[in-house]
Order: sequence, then C-alpha cells, then structure tokens
Amino acid sequence: MDKVIIAIDGFASTGKSTLAKKLSQHLGLPYVDSGALFRGITFWVLKNGWVSDDNLNELAIEKGLDNLNIFFDSVTNILSVNGIDVTEAIRSKEVSAQVSQIAKLSFVRSFLLNQQRQMSLRAGLVMDGRDIGTVVFPNADFKFFFTAKPEVRAQRRLEEMEASGHQANFADVLKNILDRDRIDSQRKISPLKKAADAIEINTSELSLEQAFDLLIAKINTK
Ligand code: C5P
Repeated sequence: MDKVIIAIDGFASTGKSTLAKKLSQHLGLPYVDSGALFRGITFWVLKNGWVSDDNLNELAIEKGLDNLNIFFDSVTNILSVNGIDVTEAIRSKEVSAQVSQIAKLSFVRSFLLNQQRQMSLRAGLVMDGRDIGTVVFPNADFKFFFTAKPEVRAQRRLEEMEASGHQANFADVLKNILDRDRIDSQRKISPLKKAADAIEINTSELSLEQAFDLLIAKINTK
C-alpha cells in the first residue's frame, strides 16, 4: 500500500499496538506507537525530577522540550530519548502512573503532533494511540477504535508485564488502566474518543488472529 495512513485508537490495553504492528508488517507500512512517545517524555520528566507527589514542574518541562530529542524507529520499534534506548524503561509502573498527566499538557501534545505528522510523509504508516483518527490524522484512510472489557484488558496487560520482567498485580494494573482511561477521556485537548467515521472493534472475545482477520476484512471491503 502506498502512503496509506491507518489510525488505531482506543482504550488502554485493548490490543491496539500488537494489532497495529501486525497490520503494518502485513501491509508493508511503517508502524508508530504514539503512546511510546508520550511514555518517553514521561520517562525523561521523571528522570529530571520534574514530577513529585503528582506536582508537575510545567515550566521546566516546557523549557526542557527545546533540548529533547525523541525518536521512535518504525522498523525496530526502539524508542530513544536523547540517544538512549528507553524501549523497556518506558513500560515501568512509574511511567504508567504519570503518563496521562503529562499527556494532558498542551505544549507536550503540540511538540509531538508535529513529529507524528512528519513521520507519515515518507511512506504512510499505521499509528496507534488515543487521538490519531480525531486530531493527528483526521483524513486517515482507515480508522479503527478499539474497546474491550476492563478485566480482560487488565489480565492481558498483567501477562505482558510479567513476560517482560515487570512486577505487578491484577488490582493495580486494573486501577491504572481505568485511571488512564478516565484522564485520557476527560482531558480538554485531544481527548480519547471515537472518531465519527471510525470502525469500532471490541476485542474482549477475540483472539489476536480473529481481531487481525476482522481488520483485514474491514480494510478489504472499504
Ligand atoms: O498507548 P499507551 O497505553 O502506551 O499510551 C500511554 C498514554 O499515553 C495514554 O494513557 C495516554 O495518556 C497517552 N497517549 C495520548 N495520546 C496518544 C497516545 C498515548 O495521550 N495518541
């Protein structure tokens, strides 16, 4: 597919990234995990000590962005922050707990908006996130919106975390997912919501293969 843009939005841990990646490989398009970019900025904010007890040093963050270099490699899916590979580190509990507060900041969103749009110019892409079909690429060729039961999402997330060596328990994971959904849906700028022309996919009862086949079927019949 040539310069096609596919936007996949939805609630936390509904399978967006896994399916977006699989779809990108199948269609020969670059893949970008926009959540990784917000997580990368959050990791950098935490590392600089610009958040404590839920207090954000917004001034420092805004000024710091002038010297921040954040890069998602759409082939290897490695995220670098100022040249350092933080692909694993951005999945920590600390980053997950703060990321939605950081993603609310208008200057953080506009900083990433330019980068996200730039990334599509060379070859199109598959991008997953929260506002891809509504704000980043309102003219995307295909838009999907993923949902799933919270308990199913928490269980899948827990298994993913354990597989990658992060300690967690079900109740904490569920709470983090619900907290992020609430903050992401209620924020003023670019809230998480289904674009009017997005196709909704509920992954609660679907295996990875079934969800993938559904996406392909929708793309082929459009
Ligand atoms: O996709 P993931 O769950 O890793 O995203 C982490 C967080 O980044 C989300 O909960 C949300 O706060 C923020 N995000 C966003 N807009 C996007 C992608 C992610 O606000 N397009």
